[in-house]
Amino acid sequence: MFTSEAIQENVVRIAERIHSACARSGRRESQVKLMAVSKTHPAEAIAAGFAAGLRLFGENRVQEFQQKASDLKGLGLDVEGLAAASGESAAVHLIGHLQSNKSARAAEIFSGVDTVDSLRLAQRLDEAAKKLGRRLPVLVEIKLSDEAAKSGLGAESPELAELLERLPDLGNLEMRGLMTVAPLDENPETARACFRRLRLLRDERAARHQRLDFGELSMGMSGDFEIAVEEGSTLVRIGTAIFGARPKPA
Ligand SMILES: *Cc1c(COP(=O)(O)O)cnc(C)c1O
Repeated sequence: MFTSEAIQENVVRIAERIHSACARSGRRESQVKLMAVSKTHPAEAIAAGFAAGLRLFGENRVQEFQQKASDLKGLGLDVEGLAAASGESAAVHLIGHLQSNKSARAAEIFSGVDTVDSLRLAQRLDEAAKKLGRRLPVLVEIKLSDEAAKSGLGAESPELAELLERLPDLGNLEMRGLMTVAPLDENPETARACFRRLRLLRDERAARHQRLDFGELSMGMSGDFEIAVEEGSTLVRIGTAIFGARPKPA
């Protein structure tokens, strides 16, 4: 369970750790954004996070967040981007796998979709964003390990090449960069190698596709975010270290 005080303290501690990782690797803290991963936690946790200064949240399920968005309204936080009474707003991105039949709803309720992993999904999101009269920021998810459960496109796959070829023509999507989830592994050097590969892939594809923006490198979670920052992450996605442990899936 979380309390507002605990969340506040955790956020301060994470900021310090990001600061140190930046100092070690000669980077500026302003180059690293913190996303609070609120999946499985109630709307109250998002509200407490907002009060602690967090302005970017990650959710992994369309339906779950739809419910929370309405709960947040009940708490006085309107999720047209979580606009607070102060006039400040926050963004909520989808960071879980998205089935294309839910893309219309996702384009409606999220400020961005960070898990685009097929051309078909990109096309569906583009159509949905067009209908809504908006531009939708997206990241392309890359899979760098062989774990069967992971989604994302292989770094050398023809599907990735085709998606990057076609993205500039999907006028309602705003490509912002790449994201990956490192494999679960005791050895931190496994994560480091994975993050480094994503950075090198980014450099290579950015040179090849100059019409696309590859500025964002979303990598690093509670267990490995300092390594990710050292390897060039611009966006760390942190759940457990902010909100505490999630209930174990059955
Ligand atoms: C759950 C999740 C996170 C956060 O994981 P923690 O280990 O709790 O920080 C980050 N990214 C993705 C894609 C997730 O699904």
